[in-house]
Amino acid sequence: MSFENARTAGIRLSASMAASMRATALRAQGRTVFDLSLGEPDFNTPEPIVQAALDAMQAGLTHYTGPSGLAVLKEAIIRKFARENGLTYKADEIAIGVGAKQILFDLFMGSLNPDDSVLIPAPFWLSYRDMVEYNGGQAVLLPCGAETNFKLSPERLAAAITPQTRWLMLNNPSNPSGAVYTRAELEGLGAVLERHPQVCIMSDEIYEHIRFEGVEVCSFPKACPALKDRTLVVNGVSKAYAMTGWRLGYAAGPAALIRVLNKLESQTTTCPSSISQVAAAAALDGPQDFLATAQAAYTRRRALVLEALAQTELRVVPPDGAFYVFPECSAYIGRQTPDGRTIGDDIALADYLLDEGGVAVVPGQAFGVGNYLRLSFATSEENLRTALAAMVACLSTLK
Ligand code: PLP
Repeated sequence: MSFENARTAGIRLSASMAASMRATALRAQGRTVFDLSLGEPDFNTPEPIVQAALDAMQAGLTHYTGPSGLAVLKEAIIRKFARENGLTYKADEIAIGVGAKQILFDLFMGSLNPDDSVLIPAPFWLSYRDMVEYNGGQAVLLPCGAETNFKLSPERLAAAITPQTRWLMLNNPSNPSGAVYTRAELEGLGAVLERHPQVCIMSDEIYEHIRFEGVEVCSFPKACPALKDRTLVVNGVSKAYAMTGWRLGYAAGPAALIRVLNKLESQTTTCPSSISQVAAAAALDGPQDFLATAQAAYTRRRALVLEALAQTELRVVPPDGAFYVFPECSAYIGRQTPDGRTIGDDIALADYLLDEGGVAVVPGQAFGVGNYLRLSFATSEENLRTALAAMVACLSTLK
């Protein structure tokens, strides 16, 4: 008997979760597996944040909060946008959710009508497409190649917009490519969008604190203030403060859209955990030294990955932000394994790396482009060194 309806059957299991689940299953069989598939900081949540959560529990902050959240968190979010992004928001322009993921899902559930389309530059974070399609929208993928550093150009955007276009999805810095738009590039996109008032902008800035070599991350409405009243900036504490398990995301945008998100939350999760809300407020308001420590670690890891990739025929544009590399793997497609099988595509290559090398990575097709692999370097240097050595050795067996 199937319990799955047609609508749910139409979407995929998150590919990074699927890759990680395969890695876990192989480990359960006694295999050694190095997991470079998940986008999850390996650090513990900083101590002052954990302490704030313990204090909240002891003080009895253990009740429903209402969908718009605790005032202490909303105020911390407002201060964060002012301090880090130079943006001013009022309390009714802030939403919170069970991770940024819930906010994004609710955004499409609450705003899309059947013929609406959503522009998604590819490669894209794999959940965008399924979330749009699940909620009845048309996901329009806009492939952006390595020649533009995987970034959407104003010309490409202008050519893609139709009267049905409802949202443009921007992810800056990008998962999986690590590309970061400059302020001038955002302004270029903004100039096109100003001519199309039916299009709203979702700017997912969840990786803003992970960036390399002096790269600046400019928030979309800061670059394009004329579009602030139709932009939803999505962010969260998962990646910046190593708080993936606390499930706390936030967003800022027009009050009318925030009311839609709150209404859906009132009928689904009610609110994120009250304890996580207090912890997130402590993260945003508290000492920020963890960000620099994490950034330094990611910088060293990025160098290790780039060094290892240079020993292979994988071709990579060094990432400017986030904790992924997204190398092109076409040199290995069509090659033979030692037992005579042909590697047909990036999925087969990822399977080979896992089965023979014990290294879990995610194939590019999951992010909307074939012949790429995504490797996460959100894992310890020790793990990374062993995983990379195993990957280099495994790739060298393909002839
Ligand atoms: N946006 C992007 C681009 C991500 O990579 C992720 C998580 O991997 C999320 C949003 C969701 O983050 P959260 O943990 O806040 O739900």
